[in-house]
Amino acid sequence: MSTVEVRDLHKHFDGGRVRAIDGVDLVTGDGEYVVLLGPSGCGKTTLLRTIAGLEEPTGGDVLIDGHVVTGLPPRARQIAMVFQSYALYPHKTVLANIVFPLRAARVDRGPREERAKWAAGLLGIGHLLDRKPRQLSGGERQRVALARALVRDPTVFLLDEPLSNLDAKLRTSARDELKRFQKEIGVTTVYVTHDQSEAMGLGDRIAVMSGGQVRQIGAPVEIYDHPADTFVATFIGSPPMNLVPRGDVLLGFRPEHLLPVENVAGERLTVTLEVERMEYLSGDRHIYGTVAIGDEPTRVIARLPATVETPIAVGERHDFAIPTGRLRFFDAASGARTGAVPLGDLTPAPSGGAGR
Ligand code: ATP
Repeated sequence: MSTVEVRDLHKHFDGGRVRAIDGVDLVTGDGEYVVLLGPSGCGKTTLLRTIAGLEEPTGGDVLIDGHVVTGLPPRARQIAMVFQSYALYPHKTVLANIVFPLRAARVDRGPREERAKWAAGLLGIGHLLDRKPRQLSGGERQRVALARALVRDPTVFLLDEPLSNLDAKLRTSARDELKRFQKEIGVTTVYVTHDQSEAMGLGDRIAVMSGGQVRQIGAPVEIYDHPADTFVATFIGSPPMNLVPRGDVLLGFRPEHLLPVENVAGERLTVTLEVERMEYLSGDRHIYGTVAIGDEPTRVIARLPATVETPIAVGERHDFAIPTGRLRFFDAASGARTGAVPLGDLTPAPSGGAGR
């Protein structure tokens, strides 16, 4: 068991023109599953490769189990890494592929096969040990690559989109398996993905990255309910958080918290929604429209679960409400979360059309 830490890490390319990692501080707990999540090009892979020792940092340090490993080669770091594009030996059996790192480390045949069978069993590929990679599905091959990483008894597991080659259904089951076996062996894991549902499902904590920096790190519920800034607020959640400009602040609320007024008990902010478009998705009604609580009419999305049966038609003006406890506030200039603005200041809106 182990921890991973990076301190003020920088990784620049092209003589500093590309700041792939631009000052990242991150500490994992022992046995924790930390997910690096962010859009393409935000630096996730570079951060993982720097932790692995495949990239030399431009500045800062990498620590494993409290020891500075910056400058040490990957093999000295007790880590196992599985990439999106993994390579299996095509002419070797699954068993021979899995035991390969143990053979290289001169582990005896008995213990190494026992270990391979343990890893294969954990990943549900125990019945495939005699096959060759070409006789496996993409998902099974990916699990062989994971098993091969696992047998080395790593103190840290670094995974870069290891499920990306799987179809949607297999991805979901592989995700469950991955989480289960990670908890079973309790190995500290850093996992890269750009898929937020994967991140929400797998991570004990999620580090949301953009532009080479970590914008927020926290448990999935924290990131979702209390985003640190407008980037996180809109990157997480589908559809994203609504943001309505109002003076110096942006008023944020999730689509599922904007409901027909009769469905919102307790203290609430009532708004009139001009309904422009509707979609049915997985039993939910997504309602696109305009509200006038801000400086100007703003487009928002409401997500109504199937349990809300209020009839709503396109073209209609309908009273909606947001529970006040669900409102979030962001600084309009910096995008950072700020304290609550008294609701009295929000209603009635200057342009009319909204009230409480
Ligand atoms: P993706 O999800 O698309 O894999 P990512 O978040 O993993 O993206 P990185 O691969 O870490 O992003 O890349 C971060 C930035 O650094 C990008 O702008 C990329 O173009 C740049 N970059 C990465 N590797 C190099 C390199 N060897 N030389 C120059 N620039 C690089």
